[in-house]
Amino acid sequence: MQKQLQQAGYFYTSTPYQEAFDIDYPQENLEGEMYKYRCMSCKILTTEINGRLENHAQDCAYRIGRTSSTPQ
Ligand SMILES: [Zn+2]
Repeated sequence: MQKQLQQAGYFYTSTPYQEAFDIDYPQENLEGEMYKYRCMSCKILTTEINGRLENHAQDCAYRIGRTSSTPQ
């Protein structure tokens, strides 16, 4: 699992697919869960979002902001 994360980071810095790997959203720490974070807008865990914009909730303010500024 750790190795997979490192590979994802490698892709992020060395390929033109930076938009596909999105970890720049505002996050908050889960209460009582020191190593768990979630998106502040849609409350989905970062481990479920996994760097993918489409894994945010469809009505997530961050996702909407990103998709409207980067037309596909
Ligand atoms: Zn979100």
